[in-house]
Amino acid sequence: MKDYFVDLHVHIGRSSNGNEIKRATAKNLTFENIAFESYTRKGIDVIGVVDCISPYVIEDIERLIEKGELREKKGGGMEYRKGQVLILGAELETHEKRGCSAHSLCFFPSLKTLKDFAKDITKHIKNIYNCSSICRLTGQQLFDMVEYYGGTYIPAHIFTPHKSFYGNCCDSLLEIFNEKSFEKIPAIELGLSADSMMASQLSELDGKVFLSNSDAHSLIKMGREYNVFQMEEPSFEEILKAFKGIDGRSIKANYGLDPKLGKYHRSYCLICDRVIEGQAPVLKCPVSEKHQVVVGVRDRLMLIKDRDNPRMNGRPPYRYQVPLEFLPKVGPKTIDKLINHFGSEMNVLHQATFEELAAVAKEEIARNIILSREGKLSIEAGGGGVYGKVEA
Ligand SMILES: [Zn+2]
Ligand SMILES: [Zn+2]
Repeated sequence: MKDYFVDLHVHIGRSSNGNEIKRATAKNLTFENIAFESYTRKGIDVIGVVDCISPYVIEDIERLIEKGELREKKGGGMEYRKGQVLILGAELETHEKRGCSAHSLCFFPSLKTLKDFAKDITKHIKNIYNCSSICRLTGQQLFDMVEYYGGTYIPAHIFTPHKSFYGNCCDSLLEIFNEKSFEKIPAIELGLSADSMMASQLSELDGKVFLSNSDAHSLIKMGREYNVFQMEEPSFEEILKAFKGIDGRSIKANYGLDPKLGKYHRSYCLICDRVIEGQAPVLKCPVSEKHQVVVGVRDRLMLIKDRDNPRMNGRPPYRYQVPLEFLPKVGPKTIDKLINHFGSEMNVLHQATFEELAAVAKEEIARNIILSREGKLSIEAGGGGVYGKVEA
């Protein structure tokens, strides 16, 4: 059994011939570039690609298979060159009768199952070619459809204020899913503004795996959060086994942002244009009750939690990591230099010693990388769509 780094939420910006797949994503974020970049630079073994149902992307995948660069794995998932594994999936937005919407991740074992699902879901999506996320189904209906095609269903960034189940739909997932389906949901995605300690204040999540994924909209953001899976080999089937803790497979650790760095950690006043400090839950702006406030993940959790002490029993540790691009005075040139020297961003963030780092980058940067490992950087909390900031 080996440890594998797994990031199950990476978007596609464009198809290889330049068609837009998802708005507000980088132009160079193609299926092939994701595979290549993670293969050569990032050190992530398994990537979940969540915009694969667009026919343009399916064409790209088929072209890579024809070229011999990509092949289906026996246990599910696709292998790029020697060893990089990609899991094909979609992120979809469902709508409840109560007027709220939420995102979910859907993954499929093979190109065939993905294509069958894509064909069926087309009926419920306005434009499957691009920005294909909005579908006219409820969470329960989407769950049923994913299950029918042999896929796996995972609620995405489950606490974020606008597009998530706990963020704006419900206090309990049992308001959305029937009991049988709820039991079958193997995992939930924490999102950048929460960690395992925060989420384990909800007792209904006790049986669910917590995932820390990047939700990357650019190549550089891949792996800013990831999970360490213990598996026999990287494949779709092994991931499902790890979710269920079968035959020694497991999730060994989560690596994620300090939740304060996330874009929705604290409540944010849209009129005053700033994060509102103070004891959570903050639901109103102190300047005026009339100001519109985006409720932070931390604040929302205070309202819905049913447990005061986080219960981490049996949960893997959640380790904070601060990606290089978040560190003060670290630009693209320094990032390139560090990655070229140490082989991958993971090595820079978690392996290299202070002396080794200081030989390649400024001493201050080396010191900050070490402090970030120890969770000792001082951070100004994010909110309302604005990332938190490492204080220089
Ligand atoms: Zn996403
Ligand atoms: Zn205000």
